[in-house]
Amino acid sequence: MPEETIFSKIIRKEIPSDMVYQDDTVTAFRDINPQAPTHILIIPNKIIPTMDDVNEADEQVLGHMITVAVKIAREQGIAQNGYRVLINCREHGGQEVYHLHMHLFGGRPLGPMLAR
Ligand code: 5GP
Repeated sequence: MPEETIFSKIIRKEIPSDMVYQDDTVTAFRDINPQAPTHILIIPNKIIPTMDDVNEADEQVLGHMITVAVKIAREQGIAQNGYRVLINCREHGGQEVYHLHMHLFGGRPLGPMLAR
């Protein structure tokens, strides 16, 4: 069994979060340390530690994370101007929490994709 992180407690509402969406498959909540006016994390309820642990059986979950991101972006009013989604993987990707998560950033021009 993959190890739990703080995100499992957020999914189960054992610790508070500013949750914007939850269903049987995914949960979305505002990042505690926002890097943009809108910064929301979309995570699978099932523990998948990293992008590198994704397999074909997870395709529906990953696809659902995308459609939920689209829905949230529209609801948050950032769809028209545009936004960025990002998944960090392991050390070089800058991953801090080992429960797969998609960042949704928006609300200002986000600049170049990577720090130079
Ligand atoms: P990573 O660097 O792993 O891609 O991103 C992890 C993100 O989780 C960071 O942006 C960090 O601010 C956020 N985060 C870490 N712990 C918590 C928490 O307890 N609550 C919330 N809402 N966000 C968290």
